[in-house]
Amino acid sequence: MCWDVPSSEGFLIEAHMKLRPVDFASDGIFMAGLAHYPKPLDESIAQAKASVARAMTILSKEGILVGGVVAEVNPDMCAVCLTCVRSCPYNAPRIGDEGHAVIDPAECRGCGACVAECPGKAISLKHFTDEQIIAKTDALFQAV
Ligand code: SF4
Ligand code: SF4
Repeated sequence: MCWDVPSSEGFLIEAHMKLRPVDFASDGIFMAGLAHYPKPLDESIAQAKASVARAMTILSKEGILVGGVVAEVNPDMCAVCLTCVRSCPYNAPRIGDEGHAVIDPAECRGCGACVAECPGKAISLKHFTDEQIIAKTDALFQAV
């Protein structure tokens, strides 16, 4: 779920209640306080300290590596229909000045939603291209 989509009660939602309790689904954004849910002051302070600690894991690095499974647009096949812009839960695709959709690899989480939705088949997911998946299924069902 995208970080800016609130719960049905209007509160912000963490990425995972147990595993990423102060993270939003989008990397590098953290939460603390009553926007999460009504809570005592000491719990808000503890959450704020946790958010600072999480932020420091990023700020203390000189560079950050992103995952290799990211979506890529073929500009020649893009019809600028905005389907990928609307379907991405992480708001990664945008229409660039070049006149076609572009996806920032640092923002893409590799979920594949835009790849499935693109009506022009202009988007491919690195390491999960149609050719690679077909080759894998062919190998899986090949007679021994
Ligand atoms: S969904 Fe496909 S055709 Fe539409 S804007 Fe995105 S990349 Fe272009
Ligand atoms: S693969 Fe998922 S996260 Fe990446 S741009 Fe497409 S919809 Fe967004």
